Amino acid sequence: MPATKMDGSALAARIRAELAGEVAEVGEIGLATVLVGDDPASHVYIKHKHRASAEVGITAHDERLPADTSEEDVLELVAALNADDSIDGILVQTPVPPQIDEAKVMRTIDPVKDVDGFHPFNAGQLYLGHQTLVPATPLGVMRLLAEYGIEISGKRAVVVGRSVIVGKPVALLLLQEHATVTICHSRTADLARETLAADIIVAAVGQPGLVTAEMVKPGAAVIDVGITRAESGLLGDVDGGVAEVAGFLTPVPGGVGPMTIALLLENAVRAARFRRGILAFPGV
Ligand code: NAD
Repeated sequence: MPATKMDGSALAARIRAELAGEVAEVGEIGLATVLVGDDPASHVYIKHKHRASAEVGITAHDERLPADTSEEDVLELVAALNADDSIDGILVQTPVPPQIDEAKVMRTIDPVKDVDGFHPFNAGQLYLGHQTLVPATPLGVMRLLAEYGIEISGKRAVVVGRSVIVGKPVALLLLQEHATVTICHSRTADLARETLAADIIVAAVGQPGLVTAEMVKPGAAVIDVGITRAESGLLGDVDGGVAEVAGFLTPVPGGVGPMTIALLLENAVRAARFRRGILAFPGV
């Protein structure tokens, strides 16, 4: 029997509808996006984020800077957005041009407005087992697992990829839910041996077709985070044949991608609640 398709588009639409109600409760919420340069994929992401913000009633502030902007100017803009009371969330679209230190920019964002969850304070909170503002893609993965009733506690989860945006935070979230977690990466000696033991596989590499049917235990839940742009469209990390073996599988597109944007907006609402004292933000 082919795997159950985990429909991220449908779930994300439901989350956005719920968020629209929450925004109405919390009041005006401002989300500033900072885009430096002309990376075509980044322009598409920003467009999607603005469209989704409008749908739920979040006011998006579109900050765009030319590709040759100095690091100092970006830091100045972030500082101004930190000080702006009408702004609840700030995100700096990555990648930024090479003259700008991405980590430094992330460190400059006020942690309470850090809707991407990349600030060391928020990353540290996650490491300690707390969730203040957590990166949206890992949150989207967890929400999909919950939606489809995938048991996590006591199960073996294998995360392929160790980035700070996806791999590491999703591994920590799975650990918080009591999975036995293995993180695989480019130096993993025998990837198939690891994945074959997994009840849950999260693939976040960016290599189309890396995870094949022979690498998946029958019935496993497979979450495909990978996005590679090809002439034929967007490609995930998981080969099509996996659908014949897995119990659950996210499609690409229409799986994790739309969930990422929905959870980013949820983070914006969460940041607004922190800033209004509706939720307590731990001391920095
Ligand atoms: P990254 O390049 O920072 O990390 C890739 C990871 O894959 C690294 O940790 C590396 O060690 C590992 N890796 C490389 N080759 C490997 C191999 N042969 N076997 C096992 N591991 C290997 O990438 P990232 O930012 O984590 O993104 C990963 C993928 O997820 C990309 O395709 C990206 O476009 C996609 N992505 C999707 C969303 C979404 O919303 N769906 C969000 C973020 C990233």
